[in-house]
Parts: sequence; C-alpha cells; structure tokens
Amino acid sequence: EAALELEGIEKTYNAGRENEVQVLRGATLALERGQVTALVAPSGAGKSTLLHIAGLLDVPDAGRVGIGGRDMTGAGDRERTRVRRRDVGFVYQFHHLLPEFSALENVMLPQLAEGRPKAEAEARAQDLLASVGVADRAEHRPAALSGGEQQRVAFCRALANAPRVLLADEPTGNLDPATSDRVFGALMQLVRETGLAALIATHNLELAARMDRQLRLDEGRVIAA
Ligand code: ADP
Ligand code: ADP
Repeated sequence: EAALELEGIEKTYNAGRENEVQVLRGATLALERGQVTALVAPSGAGKSTLLHIAGLLDVPDAGRVGIGGRDMTGAGDRERTRVRRRDVGFVYQFHHLLPEFSALENVMLPQLAEGRPKAEAEARAQDLLASVGVADRAEHRPAALSGGEQQRVAFCRALANAPRVLLADEPTGNLDPATSDRVFGALMQLVRETGLAALIATHNLELAARMDRQLRLDEGRVIAA
C-alpha cells in the first residue's frame, strides 16, 4: 500500500468572498516507501497548502487523505494529531530547531515526547546525526552550526520517531549549491535506509531531477513532470 495517498483534494481560501482563491482542484498522488518524490511548482501554486493537507495540519474541502493505508478523511483532531506525530515528519526552508538545546537534544526531544526512554532516544539521535555526517556537532546549539549542518539536524529531528512520511518544503532553499547537494545526498541515503516515503517541494529543477520521481502542481492538479 502507499505510504501517503491524496485523492481528489480540493482547497479554496476565502470561499464566496471577492478574494476567493481556488488553490487545489482535484490533486491526486500516491507516495511509495523508499522513494523521494519532487513536487515542483512556482511560488503561489499551492505547494505549502498541499503539504499541510498531506501532513494533517489542514483539512481539504473535498477529497481523501490516506496515511499508511489508514483513511484520515473525517478523523477528529485527536486522531489527526496522533497520526501526525507518529507517522509524519516535517522539514522547512528554515530549520526551526530549538535554539536553547543542542543538536543532540533537538533530535531527542520528539522521542521523549512520545515516551521513549532517555538512553534509547539518545542512542537513536546519535545514530541519526552520524548517518548524515554531523556526529561531531552533537553537543553544539543550532547557532553554532552552519546552515547545512542545521538542515541536516532538522532532517534527523523530522525522522526521530521513524515516521512513514517525510514532507519537506524547500528544505535546501536557503543553502548554497554545494551545501544543498550535501544535505540532499544525506537525505537520499536516509530514505534508502529507512524505507521512508518523502515528498520534497522545490523550485530547484536540478535537484528535482535527481529524485526518484518528479511531479508538478499545475492549476491545482498534480501531474507527472
Ligand atoms: P506555495 O507554497 O506554492 O507558494 P501556498 O500553498 O502557500 O503556495 O499558497 C497558494 C495560494 O493560496 C496563494 O495564492 C496564497 O496566497 C493563498 N493562500 C495560502 N494560504 C492562505 C490562507 N491561509 N488564506 C488565504 N489565502 C491563502
Ligand atoms: P508538537 O505539539 O509536539 O510540537 P504538533 O503535533 O503540533 O507537535 O506538530 C507536529 C509537526 O507539525 C511538527 O513538526 C510541527 O513543526 C508541525 N506543525 C505544527 N503546527 C504547524 C503549523 N501551523 N504550520 C506548520 N507546521 C506545523
């Protein structure tokens, strides 16, 4: 089964008002385990809206959202929050790491929130940081890390609770090309190792071309790029 399925998703902001904007008009996609899928579209096309709906942060006007084979259409807030925390990881253009905690602690915290024992959380955080080449930065706070290191830590945090689905919104958008390349390489390796399904929104066509599959958001629908 698909790790994430969106079927016929529709979303309009300010419905019925003069500033009404119909963003999604029947968007459909399915993500397979172990694959990185690019979602390419110009700014304003609705990528963030689609990612928020896929990550159960927002509700569509119509259509179906399935995560790990579970139909989330009509699920209540508690259930949506529970599934989001367990099955979905988010990465943004800016890392949003907690500034007062070390890299290691930032990757431990989501695990502790889920009730994992401290020693286990720490071991897993160390493993994740090592897998993306920032083990030696574990004790540093985010401000002491480079942009690329911060973003690699942000990926580790997103994957801390072993989600089924990773959703990333321009995750390398503020990095120089060489750094972006290194962060992207680390991500690909993590996806291969964990069998995760990743959807990466980006304007960067070169980066998109290196992903397993390329989708485009066009007039509110998802098409093969
Ligand atoms: P992208 O991520 O591709 O830039 P967004 O999903 O952020 O696109 O936005 C798509 C369109 O929806 C834009 O025209 C944006 O202005 C509009 N939009 C996004 N969020 C809201 C909102 N909360 N209220 C009203 N309009 C919104
Ligand atoms: P917590 O309450 O444990 O911080 P949530 O269940 O609220 O976590 O959110 C889970 C994930 O969704 C986090 O990665 C968080 O960054 C993201 N998130 C929560 N609310 C929003 C929002 N309004 N916009 C974007 N991302 C959000």
